[in-house]
Amino acid sequence: MLLKEAVNKKIEYKAQILGLLVSSVLCLVSCVFVGCATIAPPRVAELPIQKFYINNIPYYSLTEICRHFKIDWDYDSFARQISMKKADSEVKLLMDSSVALVNGSPLDIQQPLRMHNGLTVVPAKFRELVIDRFYSRIIPQASGESALGYAIRKVIVDAGHGGHDPGAIGRTGLREKDVNLDIARRLAHLLEAKGIDASMTRSVDKFISLEERAEIANRSKADFFISIHSNSARSARLNGFEVYYITDKINDYSRALTTAQNADLHIEPASFYNTSLNLKATLWDIIYTQSRLRSIIIAQSICQAASRNMGLRILGVKGAPFYVLKGTRIPAVLVEVGFVSHPSEERYLRSGFYRQQLAEAIAEGILNVKGNRSF
Ligand SMILES: [Zn+2]
Repeated sequence: MLLKEAVNKKIEYKAQILGLLVSSVLCLVSCVFVGCATIAPPRVAELPIQKFYINNIPYYSLTEICRHFKIDWDYDSFARQISMKKADSEVKLLMDSSVALVNGSPLDIQQPLRMHNGLTVVPAKFRELVIDRFYSRIIPQASGESALGYAIRKVIVDAGHGGHDPGAIGRTGLREKDVNLDIARRLAHLLEAKGIDASMTRSVDKFISLEERAEIANRSKADFFISIHSNSARSARLNGFEVYYITDKINDYSRALTTAQNADLHIEPASFYNTSLNLKATLWDIIYTQSRLRSIIIAQSICQAASRNMGLRILGVKGAPFYVLKGTRIPAVLVEVGFVSHPSEERYLRSGFYRQQLAEAIAEGILNVKGNRSF
């Protein structure tokens, strides 16, 4: 017994020496190749809140978090939406979604909000990503670039107006429908070159109704719909670039209810088709909310690219009740590339070179949010 113990101790001792040796070598190697920046990041104090593990990912109870940080919260069980309020900051969360809307700007919380044993739980990272910034009142900026990876594989490019509908007409006669079609063609071409399946609602000068355009997008099962337009204003001084998404001022639930009555959700399992109209409407409501968030992210990314690449005056990312956006069930934006009513912008918009630059900026904006992780 004693001998066995001594042998075991010796083995243990040898193993310890070996372990020490290996770790010193590894440290040396990492110092040489990585550099000796071994200062540990500041530790975030553990919360006195119970953690739940779902698929090895730590979660906290949302009510516990709110109680601990004294944040008012409200759960809309119908829309499955949670609003958290403190001072003048507001965070909105949607069940099963990994996107939070922080003061109107989307933020990736990395894992979705879930129900766990009857509790609403948020990923532990939520504390760092939202609460710490929320609590210290530093509002995170939405990153339209890679932070929110969203797989865009198929895009519908819509050239506004066409045929007997010329759209806006510039002071020297430039027709919006021609500008839109040329930019849309260039954009579709650029996206195709980057491996995105891009199709157009019209590739020639013909009239298509707004209903048809939305229907093309809905039938396509594409990931994203983009409508290209040129602006016009009574004042010849107004110029700039802007991107619209469907406003949240419209009643999503009544829109969802109409959709539920008319459209099939392509969601498995098949038994879903037997579920109630209310449940379908609720699901459509969630899809619409999610689509809007994605639309905002892409819209921001497009504006960033247009500003960075071309130094354009950005009028902003705005919500509006445009029919073509309202009727589209996938993430959708409408880009107003410039004002044909503004003398120099009209002149620029006549140039193929300028239209190519616009198409490139829009394509870059779309590609910047293209990722392999779904929401
Ligand atoms: Zn237009």
